[in-house]
Amino acid sequence: MKVYSLSRGGISYEDPTVPSRVFSGTCFLPVFSIIPLADDYNNRSYPLVSAGEMVKEGMLIARGKSPGAANIHATVPGRIVKFISWKMAGGQNIEALVIRLEGSFEKLGKYQENLSWDSMLPYDLHRMIGDYGIVEMEGRGFPVYDLISSFRKEAEPYTLVVRCVFDDPWLAADYVLCRERLKAVIEGSRIMARIIRATRIIFAVSHHEKKLGDDLLAETGNWDPPSSLVLVGSKYPQRNRRELEQALTHYAKKEEIELGSMMILGPATLAAVHDAIRMRKPILDRYIAVGGSAVKKPKILKVRIGTRVGEVFDECEGFIGNPKRIAVGSPLSGRAIVNLDEPILKNSNALFAYLEKQKKWVNCTCISCGECRNVCPVGLEPDELYKQSRLTDKNITENFASRAEECHGCSCCDVVCPSMLPLSSTITASVNPKPLN
Ligand code: SF4
Ligand code: SF4
Repeated sequence: MKVYSLSRGGISYEDPTVPSRVFSGTCFLPVFSIIPLADDYNNRSYPLVSAGEMVKEGMLIARGKSPGAANIHATVPGRIVKFISWKMAGGQNIEALVIRLEGSFEKLGKYQENLSWDSMLPYDLHRMIGDYGIVEMEGRGFPVYDLISSFRKEAEPYTLVVRCVFDDPWLAADYVLCRERLKAVIEGSRIMARIIRATRIIFAVSHHEKKLGDDLLAETGNWDPPSSLVLVGSKYPQRNRRELEQALTHYAKKEEIELGSMMILGPATLAAVHDAIRMRKPILDRYIAVGGSAVKKPKILKVRIGTRVGEVFDECEGFIGNPKRIAVGSPLSGRAIVNLDEPILKNSNALFAYLEKQKKWVNCTCISCGECRNVCPVGLEPDELYKQSRLTDKNITENFASRAEECHGCSCCDVVCPSMLPLSSTITASVNPKPLN
């Protein structure tokens, strides 16, 4: 079977401190859950509860009123203790409410509903996705309701792409979820295909996970719309939207089919879609890969949203030394954490702590080795863009802005630069960055 890979650049990224890809268990329930009322981009949801009130597990506690803000639900039963705010590593203030665990669970350990959606219209399914606060769990946490609304303005035909691309070892939790919740991922894909009126479903799977791809396809049976498996490369950043769309466009050309506009979603999001429609359940927990050189027992855990990061590390028996760097997400694109009281969010798929400091950006000069040019998947000249980014405006060449805007901040150039120059952050900071998704 042909493999559709990056047309240029990319890196093979490995990290021995990632937990092995087996499910290790469920993190204990937090006594205090911290539920943020805004995301990293400051899209705010408005609370429907006050301090002192009791809430049930899965109850709607804040409503997202504007595009980008999702509905928020209580992930445990209990009492609202207070509203708090704290400063993230990036400087922005986040408001949150604190729930103290009390009372009985509505969902945990109870019979799960399994409701039929066969006769439901796309409009009703779409509305339910919004009601249950489903967000893109592999990306920046954008509400899926809003993604669908803007996707419908794109040109037909529509294709749903199920992104099972593991180009980064820190996606271990998504891999395990895909394996353990294969049927939910498949049914979530069918539901989403109906909502967006997709005429085709593509399972884009890393070529070294062909067995997973075969299992996904076997589970689909003879659906309508038709599904196909496309094997893609495993070099980072193959899963990035731009690189994945390019690979699938080559596939479509070879197969002489028209894919049209592509809605790309990952397995965790599609399993959440399944749970919302089949079980009337919001996102209460998620799979997380916890590791790094400072963690005693790296694990893949199922963690309640709102659990403090410190408690998740405790579940892995804590640290073997003083961690110098803690972040959520992959080391390539993660967000630094300065406070172990920060909570796990709907889109936190990995958590790491390293004994080593982040490699220090030093102001040495470019030695013109060309490595950054070799790995840039966009075909940019990161060394040249870096130099120009540091010039004053009046000296910037006309071509600079349009080239720099093409950079999607994948950090491949940073990883290989022997001079340790902060290429990616300098280039993206000089223009409006296009975040990876
Ligand atoms: S961060 Fe930008 S310049 Fe660097 S490799 Fe990625 S796309 Fe190219
Ligand atoms: S990898 Fe670093 S040192 Fe080599 S050309 Fe690029 S910027 Fe210069």
